[in-house]
Amino acid sequence: MSEELRTAAETAAEEKVSRNFIELEIDKDLAEGVYDHVQTRFPPEPNGYLHIGHAKSILTNYGLAQQYGGKFNMRFDDTNPTKEKDEFVQSIIADVKWLGADFEDRLFFASDYFGQMYECAVKLIKKGKAFVCDLSADEIRETRGDFNTPGKNSPYRDRSIEENLALFEEMKSGVIADGARVLRAKIDMASPNINMRDPVIYRVAHQSHHRQGDKWCIYPMYDFAHPIEDAIEGITHSICTLEFEDHRPLYDWVVTECEFDPKPRQIEFAKLYLTNVVTGKRYIKKLVEDGIVDGWDDPRLVSIAALRRRGYTPASIKKFVELVGLSKANSSVDSAMLEYCIREDLKMKAPRMMAVLDPVKLVIDNYPEGQTEELPMPLNLENPELGERMLTFGKELWIEREDFMEEPPKKYFRLFPGNEVRLMGAYFVTCTGCEKDADGRVTVVHAAYDPMTKNGMEVGRKVKGTIHWVNAADCKQVTARLYENIVDEEKGKLNEDGSLNLNPNSLTVIDRCFVEPALAQAEAYDSFQFVRNGFFCADCKDSIQGQPVFNRIVSLKSSFKLS
Ligand code: ATP
Ligand code: MG
Repeated sequence: MSEELRTAAETAAEEKVSRNFIELEIDKDLAEGVYDHVQTRFPPEPNGYLHIGHAKSILTNYGLAQQYGGKFNMRFDDTNPTKEKDEFVQSIIADVKWLGADFEDRLFFASDYFGQMYECAVKLIKKGKAFVCDLSADEIRETRGDFNTPGKNSPYRDRSIEENLALFEEMKSGVIADGARVLRAKIDMASPNINMRDPVIYRVAHQSHHRQGDKWCIYPMYDFAHPIEDAIEGITHSICTLEFEDHRPLYDWVVTECEFDPKPRQIEFAKLYLTNVVTGKRYIKKLVEDGIVDGWDDPRLVSIAALRRRGYTPASIKKFVELVGLSKANSSVDSAMLEYCIREDLKMKAPRMMAVLDPVKLVIDNYPEGQTEELPMPLNLENPELGERMLTFGKELWIEREDFMEEPPKKYFRLFPGNEVRLMGAYFVTCTGCEKDADGRVTVVHAAYDPMTKNGMEVGRKVKGTIHWVNAADCKQVTARLYENIVDEEKGKLNEDGSLNLNPNSLTVIDRCFVEPALAQAEAYDSFQFVRNGFFCADCKDSIQGQPVFNRIVSLKSSFKLS
């Protein structure tokens, strides 16, 4: 290791009191001279959209490369043509870039290495370390044994090198039917690790590949392909999730027997799971296919595309991944933590505007007919740098229906007959009564204002309640959407039969939401705090010029506390 790197590693170690277990392993490898640099990769299979779990993997791999002054590769693990599509390649690239993991020109496709993988397979055959096997998939499974019983050698295990070479060539040439023959590594059918019991490394599949077309009809299996991909690219630390821990001996076997030098090293960490949130590609796919959600980017999902559409920022996701940390044990993280991170990110940045989600008319009877006035209001009280906007005020306003009660319970400090409240940034008003329709539903609330309290100033008396409002004369009507978790929180994610336990209230569409005029100019991805109602983001798909549709990113209240 160079002196420079050693110093960098030492300073990093000193600066950060607690280093995670992957950093410790990397420090050790650098100190012992196993590697003289760090190179990581993110290797998605382009068979679906990325989700929050992948974000963890991306930011971890990218973060480590940054931290050690190394390189980060974006590599598509596109070795299984059945499920892979270019649509997914494009969406994955967009998501990784959006998250800020800058791979520059280091974009790779495992399928570009098919030639080298084939050469590796031939090398193994020549070393007597691989053989062509004619057993069917079922027979292979049956002879594999299990945890307690060793497997049985295949009757084809002792074929000569020449015969194996000829048969493998035949597999490649296209004359062998799918499944009729496979190439297997010759390791040890009695190994306590089932992955080492002569695993299949190549199969015949007469399938077009999204990049290679019909060039190949044999495809490498994941456990064989992945270590070779890492080795070819000069990856030092191949970071993956825990389910591959038992595959590590096979990973090491492949890089050793194929004689790669230096050899990449696999390190596993626990997958990220969130409570009350569906992360698995399989489940998301089902929700999309069953039409329960509006595509892979439905804001109720936690695909990266969905989080972006909902209004999450790269910074909030990065913060979340840092808070969660890296672990060797599987566990579920409270989804409230993700919400906490976006609230923290938007708190100071987002303008705070007024929007009424469930409007009822408020008439200020003593306000002069036909009068309007302009009131200045800060865009974010906690962040004066955002400046202010002017709002008009008039005789007729819209307020939230729940901000008036004819017969209030104790500790209700909003409008009820005789009570005075502050209209945010405007005046103090005292409720004088209401009008109702035939069903007893309140249609208009009446109040009187005190002209001395302009801009909401106290004049010798305090009020306990402050409510938001918009001016009926110039407010705009927009659509707002409120979300809850797509699966029922109380009863758990899955029903007994394994189907998803769906929450019927996961989406509420509010067509009659009245907002300050400026909000009608919101562009896709613009985020705001709607005071008292939460953070909202203009939808990138359903908004049209002057007619935004707002998605609630998150409410303002949180049960989550940073411990
Ligand atoms: P899924 O489980 O959603 O189907 P996958 O593991 O099949 O995902 P890949 O495209 O193979 O998806 O994953 C690319 C990388 O992302 C792998 O290194 C994988 O380990 C990692 N990854 C996938 N899911 C998670 C997760 N929940 N948490 C952390 N890393 C993950
Ligand atoms: Mg996978």
